[in-house]
Amino acid sequence: MLKLLKYLRPYSIPIAAVITVVFFQCMGDLYLPTLMSDVVNKGITNGDVDYILRTGLLMLIVALGGSLCAVLASYLSSHISMGLGEILRSRIFRKVSSFSLHEYDRIGTPSLITRSTNDVSQIQNVVMMSFRMMIGAPITAVGGIILALQKDRGLAWIIAIAIPLLASLIVFVAVKGFPLFKAIQKKVDRINLVLRENLSGIRVIRAFDRGDAEKARFDEANRDLTETSIKVNRMFAALMPAMMLIMNYTTIAILWFGTRRVNVGSSNVGDMMAFLQYAMQILFSFLMASIMFIMVPRAQASADRINEVLEMDIGISDPASPSVPRSESRGFVEFRDVSFTYHGAEEPAVRGITFTARPGETTAIIGSTGSGKSTLLSLIPRFYDASSGSVLVDGMDVREMSQAELRSRIGFVPQKAVLFTGSVAENIRYGKEDASDEEVRRAAETAQALEFVEGMAQGFGSPISQGGSNVSGGQKQRLSIARALVKRPDIYLFDDSFSALDFKTDARLRSALRKETADSTVIIVGQRVATIMDADRIIVLDEGRIVGMGTHAELYAGCAVYREIVASQLSEEEIA
Ligand code: ADP
Repeated sequence: MLKLLKYLRPYSIPIAAVITVVFFQCMGDLYLPTLMSDVVNKGITNGDVDYILRTGLLMLIVALGGSLCAVLASYLSSHISMGLGEILRSRIFRKVSSFSLHEYDRIGTPSLITRSTNDVSQIQNVVMMSFRMMIGAPITAVGGIILALQKDRGLAWIIAIAIPLLASLIVFVAVKGFPLFKAIQKKVDRINLVLRENLSGIRVIRAFDRGDAEKARFDEANRDLTETSIKVNRMFAALMPAMMLIMNYTTIAILWFGTRRVNVGSSNVGDMMAFLQYAMQILFSFLMASIMFIMVPRAQASADRINEVLEMDIGISDPASPSVPRSESRGFVEFRDVSFTYHGAEEPAVRGITFTARPGETTAIIGSTGSGKSTLLSLIPRFYDASSGSVLVDGMDVREMSQAELRSRIGFVPQKAVLFTGSVAENIRYGKEDASDEEVRRAAETAQALEFVEGMAQGFGSPISQGGSNVSGGQKQRLSIARALVKRPDIYLFDDSFSALDFKTDARLRSALRKETADSTVIIVGQRVATIMDADRIIVLDEGRIVGMGTHAELYAGCAVYREIVASQLSEEEIA
């Protein structure tokens, strides 16, 4: 929690203002009972109407001032806490944007969403309350005790009993509550996870008629959260009446023993009433502190989760002094004895990979599912860093140049095409912001997307809905290919990007691509032999290792794994 307070720095002036305002408000509150006892002792006892009116007017002014201060304090607190929320959300977003895929794998998307929304709200709430409570409560408690003692020392023992009673009650609840609050945030994560899976998997759920099972899964997560929340609330529900009981008994004790003291002449009515009010103020400030004791642990649980994100070591970052590869060599990709193991995995996903891809050449990677093709490809744009060996682009280790420099050379088409909300043209321009209409059109044409885009109601201006759900899988793939093409990079990486295309479109696309990418380095991951058989170099992967490298004819003659893949897909005539 304390670590997050540094983000309040831009708000130091409003914070100073709110502290001052709360201070004045407390002073006003503390002054009122003294004025009241003066009215009783000096005014009523002496029958001095003038004094009563004058002091009464002062009381009205003090009370009004107190109210104004309270309003101002609320306004300033809201301003500060909402501002802090904004800063935290933006910090989290920026940090998460710099995460490598490792860190995403570690925390998980649903939890990242809860952390940047729900957890931030918890912090906002506590900051909002804390000025009034954390600053106001100690002032009122200390001031109240001093003034109460001035009024009547003889009744002090009542407060001396009430305070420890209240305090122990509060500590008990806070200690019991903390683990529950931690659990609640975890359970909110869980609800998010189930909900996300349900929303994104709705078609599969319907098709397999798993609706009821999913409902049950959601109900379970929901019930789990509710039960823990009820446990917490039950505890607090018991806390309030217990505290009220202590306060009421304190009132009774003060009245009972106070009137006796008034009777024997050791005190007077005015002082007793003031004492009663101070006692209430003191206990009330403890009550407020108790609310803080409840809110702070909850916010602490959230703060820990936010800090975990903000302080996460980023596996992949730019070097301290990034270098730029020599400009004459553009498009070279070289793997030197590269192995990579996923976080927590026992076996490397790829190992001992050595090959070079050159400009003007197409290098294809083929192998069964899980053989490490996508993993290998993801090492080039540094989605992950090699565990051993090195990946070089244009003769330089990818870890020695900045990520921006590296990625500016690469056009990546992922296995699962991703589109963003916006128009078709905006999605293609994602590859190059300032691309002209002609460039966008040409990229779409090469990607074999022109025909269907022009068939859409508004052509390139047609909207793409969230997740690209209003275009087919094959159309999505073609648009994401166009997005890479418009960038005109030195290196194209296609991660099984033709899988959703029919054979005819696939063939047309490849022949158009060949012209467009004639001077570039192309690396294609493919499942279909037909897609990759005319590549300059084919790399055959099996269980993360290279088991063959060469042209189609060479491999067909000399690589058993390749022959097997070919035999399973092509007829005799096609092979020849
Ligand atoms: P391919 O693209 O050939 O189908 P991948 O490169 O996707 O294969 O996967 C290679 C191996 O790495 C598989 O065994 C897979 O289970 C594992 N793997 C892939 N992604 C991850 C990940 N994010 N975390 C842990 N293991 C992974």
